Amino acid sequence: VSGRPGARLAVAGTEEAAASCASPAALDAVVRGCVACPELAASRTQVVPGMAPAGARLMFVGEAPGAQEDESSVPFVGRSGQLLDQLLGEAGLSRGDAAVVNVLKCRPPKNRKPRRAEVERCRPWLARQLELVAPQVIVTLGGTAAEWFFGPGARIATLREHVQEYAGTPLVATYHPSAAIRFGPRGAPRAALEADLRRVADLLAAGPTPVRPAQM
Ligand code: SF4
Repeated sequence: VSGRPGARLAVAGTEEAAASCASPAALDAVVRGCVACPELAASRTQVVPGMAPAGARLMFVGEAPGAQEDESSVPFVGRSGQLLDQLLGEAGLSRGDAAVVNVLKCRPPKNRKPRRAEVERCRPWLARQLELVAPQVIVTLGGTAAEWFFGPGARIATLREHVQEYAGTPLVATYHPSAAIRFGPRGAPRAALEADLRRVADLLAAGPTPVRPAQM
């Protein structure tokens, strides 16, 4: 094993490295050296750990960084991010209330879908972020994030019929803003996203629920 942090992470695996992080800031620093997925480590511009403002009551979980996120290392900065900000505002919420992270911390080449092995290698980073941020409400955006929590074949249309739960924390599963953009302002995903964010605002207004430690 060489002395480079990335090389150590590649060998030791992500679980041990993530478990050693005692704060979101520590995780942010360590994950930036992760090379557990050789193809992604070679093709990315940089790792996009996500953003977790102190005291964030809400955590959005998306799929993976896109081109602009890969360039800036800031999650949700493109059109999807702008729409999310707009809909958050309409629901009486703001980015300042929210941590924003992805299932995968590195951009897949040409924005291809994350591979299952990549998602599993990256899983401990998100699991640890959930523990460290301990949000009042979790919101999954899109199918990849829903599958991370509920397994292969998880269907957003079914999950969003009720508020779900992850380790004692209420979880709202909804569509990715990119789907709302693709289907247009009168499309079903846009209406669902708007309704689900209003539901999130209601959950936050109702106050915290007891949070049990996350299952790793
Ligand atoms: S996607 Fe996740 S596990 Fe893979 S190299 Fe990036 S940070 Fe590491």
